[in-house]
Amino acid sequence: MLSAHLRIRAVTVLALDEFDEGQNRLEFEVAAEQLGLAGGDICYTAPVMVQMTVSKALYMYTVDGRVRTSVAGECCRCLLPAAVDLEARIRFLLQRKEASGIEVEAFEEQDDVDIVDPGTKEVDLSERLHDAVVLELPLRLYCKSDCKGLCPQCGQDFNVGTCSCAGDVIDPRWEALAHLKK
Ligand SMILES: [Zn+2]
Ligand SMILES: [Zn+2]
Repeated sequence: MLSAHLRIRAVTVLALDEFDEGQNRLEFEVAAEQLGLAGGDICYTAPVMVQMTVSKALYMYTVDGRVRTSVAGECCRCLLPAAVDLEARIRFLLQRKEASGIEVEAFEEQDDVDIVDPGTKEVDLSERLHDAVVLELPLRLYCKSDCKGLCPQCGQDFNVGTCSCAGDVIDPRWEALAHLKK
């Protein structure tokens, strides 16, 4: 019977009974891999840092926080390393109570309200944190906002100099080819 108390909780787990009425501040960091975020062309260069306030009022917990991390990858124009800091908001209302069928149905589709059974002790935020970060991920990375890219013919980096190929304007359709040449 001791197991429940001795078990080490993941940092992403909210222990509902341990919050005081009113505002509770929470701060923790978790590895991106632990949230299932790693993989693909983008790599996480910092842990996912979370700062949040859990406001408890009887059976209601309002969770509001900021999620930050950094990612790196290839600049989509010149293929040099590019990095970007991400910041996301996480905000939802958690209700620990007996919910009527109507309520369950009404909130099923609603992302910012969660209803859990009265006996629930722990709520894991992993999935919400994962989703919050993924939503902030840029589709493309740029080494700098005005990166001039590479010459599709000779591969000259236009940020550094010019070349004698015709036209310095990059047709976006060539970007993929420039990528292949690498
Ligand atoms: Zn670039
Ligand atoms: Zn060229």
